Amino acid sequence: MGTTLNTEVKKSTTSNLQGKVAIVTGGSRGIGSIIAKELARNGAEVVINYNSNVEAASDVTQEIEDFGGKASYFQADVSNSEEARSLVENTIEAYGKVDILVNNAGITRDRTFKKLSEKEWNEVINVNLNSVFNTTSTVINAMLEQGFGRVINISSIIGQAGGFGQTNYAASKAGIIGFTKSLALETARKGITVNAVCPGFIATEMVEAMPEKVLDNMISAIPMNRLGQTDEIADAVLFLINNGYVTGQCINVNGGLYM
Ligand code: NAD
Repeated sequence: MGTTLNTEVKKSTTSNLQGKVAIVTGGSRGIGSIIAKELARNGAEVVINYNSNVEAASDVTQEIEDFGGKASYFQADVSNSEEARSLVENTIEAYGKVDILVNNAGITRDRTFKKLSEKEWNEVINVNLNSVFNTTSTVINAMLEQGFGRVINISSIIGQAGGFGQTNYAASKAGIIGFTKSLALETARKGITVNAVCPGFIATEMVEAMPEKVLDNMISAIPMNRLGQTDEIADAVLFLINNGYVTGQCINVNGGLYM
């Protein structure tokens, strides 16, 4: 007899996040706040990490509580390894575990390479890439022990295609993609998936505040002829949490701008 197919599928997917604990870094505004709300709406208890704006973090938490969700907020500069560690350790102390880590915190310091300072290089690498090491290295042992984990890293189309005046940002976001694939390999047999989301140009306050002409030119280069919406990024994150057979991937949410 030939080999038989194993049709019994052990369901490692979660259609609903009840009982799951999630950390969203940089979750007090922009894309991170929408991800935090979406996870809470699906039943997860969400820890919203913020760096400086406690009011914004408190507002997002309140919004989540208003619709019956569970959330709290925690200050940490995730580019600082001690602060990132305390974010993870405090979450485990408060909730007993971490199931989902969304590494969303990010900054830009755009400058053509000729003019880019070492400080601007280091700031972006520290906040965008070293933060991912800081949080993930603290959370991974707990995920390995419980045999379940979802790590989702917010990268960028710029990490794939490059961007004018963005050598620092592009390097940090490309670094995230390499990190994602390598950690996915190391954890694939342990119930953990590690993926990235690569947004294109998303309608956040920052993007919408650009001069109209620059924005119009940017939009006309996008095959779908519009900016992405923050909830379209949150949808991709939710998909990566719910699907247990996707790992080491970078999900492009970019209106067809990079394929
Ligand atoms: P944003 O500036 O509104 O949000 C970034 C968040 O990260 C803020 O809440 C900020 O306070 C936080 N943060 C910054 N440094 C931090 C630190 N050291 N410690 C903790 N938190 C810190 O920007 P956004 O557009 O919502 O971006 C969210 C993520 O998506 C970023 O990683 C960004 O690079 C990525 N992204 C955004 C776009 C876009 O078009 N907006 C496109 C591609 C990728």
